[in-house]
Amino acid sequence: MKNITMGRTGITVPQNGFGALPLQRVSFEEAEHILLKAYDGGMRFFDTARAYSDSEEKLGRAFGDGKIKRDDIIIATKTPAKTPEDFWKDLDTSLKMLKTDYIDIFQFHLMGQCWRSGEDNGMYECMLKAKEQGKIRFIGGTAHKLGIAKEIAMSGLYDTLQYPISYLADEKELELIKICNENNVGMIAMKGLAGGLITNSRAAMAFITQYDGIVPIWGIQKESELDEWLSYMENTPALDEEIRAFIKNEQEELKGEFCRGCGYCMPCAVNIQINQCNRMSLMLRRAPSKGWLSEYWQQEMDKINNCIECRACIPKCPYGLDIPALLKKNLEDYHEVLNGNRKVM
Ligand code: SF4
Ligand code: SF4
Repeated sequence: MKNITMGRTGITVPQNGFGALPLQRVSFEEAEHILLKAYDGGMRFFDTARAYSDSEEKLGRAFGDGKIKRDDIIIATKTPAKTPEDFWKDLDTSLKMLKTDYIDIFQFHLMGQCWRSGEDNGMYECMLKAKEQGKIRFIGGTAHKLGIAKEIAMSGLYDTLQYPISYLADEKELELIKICNENNVGMIAMKGLAGGLITNSRAAMAFITQYDGIVPIWGIQKESELDEWLSYMENTPALDEEIRAFIKNEQEELKGEFCRGCGYCMPCAVNIQINQCNRMSLMLRRAPSKGWLSEYWQQEMDKINNCIECRACIPKCPYGLDIPALLKKNLEDYHEVLNGNRKVM
């Protein structure tokens, strides 16, 4: 596994980071076990967020209280704050939950605009002040919209950019890696498995290893998933002919418009779980499980019939999807499978 230096931060870590969002779904004991195993296995970059319920607290319990040397790991977290008051509240809570005196990379979570210094809201100044106080080391931003991500990368104000990158990313998205490298900005790749659509971790890892300056954070919930990622520390998959052909095939199959499951379009006016229902057809094909056909999911899918076409969700989708139309298509496919007209497993 190669080590990556993350732009001007100078932070150097193995190109195999830990995304701690899914830790919300496991117990404190399990989380501690998984996190310490990740550390023992060589992972050094851990990304969490204030918005991931108890994820920060789980990191704090696993690594805090001197269980490991603090400067042995890099902790990145995020605040969704939109006012200075919330910023300071969040930063203090994050420090407390993470049981640390400083956060290596503090990121504005899901930026709707690239905040700059001198703006009325004073948000960027909060970052500068936190840095001055030694509470954070570097300033980062996360975004799902390409235009905003580019602005962040080129602004000269942010040390890192977090953006979804996987082998399903298009040319323009992949160009962001180059932009980050040229601007000396460390890149953090989220959603390397495209929210569950990619099921071949070897191919996902091989794809990322062709780039420099970018650290993927794999969302890890189960020990078996961790084991898979840790196995690549020793045997890092190469982007050989076989994997290239596999990826090409996948890109062909998934090209066009598809829902990434990010959930930014929600809540829906009639409570449709858009982030799941809008890719049910793909999930049935790519990650088939009887669970998708359960009574619960049948009811959730049938809520699509209640869509009032208010279109409030559409401008919130970073991928510009026609959500109501795509939902209807998913519902049709779902019933095809339910009625046994199409076999998926
Ligand atoms: S258009 Fe349909 S799916 Fe979108 S928010 Fe309105 S009701 Fe929900
Ligand atoms: S429809 Fe768009 S915003 Fe909503 S979950 Fe899918 S990709 Fe995300």
